[in-house]
Amino acid sequence: MKRRILVVEDNPLNSELLGDWLEMEGYEAVIASNLKAGFAALESNAPQAVLLDIQLGSEDGLTLASWMREQPGLCQIPVIAVTAQAMVSEQERIVNSGCKCIVSKPVDFKVLRQELEFWLGRAGADAVKGVASRE
Ligand code: MN
Repeated sequence: MKRRILVVEDNPLNSELLGDWLEMEGYEAVIASNLKAGFAALESNAPQAVLLDIQLGSEDGLTLASWMREQPGLCQIPVIAVTAQAMVSEQERIVNSGCKCIVSKPVDFKVLRQELEFWLGRAGADAVKGVASRE
């Protein structure tokens, strides 16, 4: 079964690029262009990982990451921030919201592949061990 990756990105060129790349890598890509679509996608069919643009037009992508942390069924899903923001204060804000890591734009796909494989592997191992054993 293909692993499903949710891409939350407001720029259509970026989301097309990421979506095409994910499908070439053997993933199923689901695209959401704003927070509302992102929430809907998470609630209808939870993905195995999320690629999250932080600047969604006037919306703050981190709203989604913070919300996911509060959801028992979604808090284990790794969120990878994809952003051009490089300031340390912004990086801290991103990590504090629950994102696992930051991939900077323009995306280096070799880096993105490594991060996805790492965090998907971690999430898979945690699922096998069970939540209780990590407490
Ligand atoms: Mn954006």
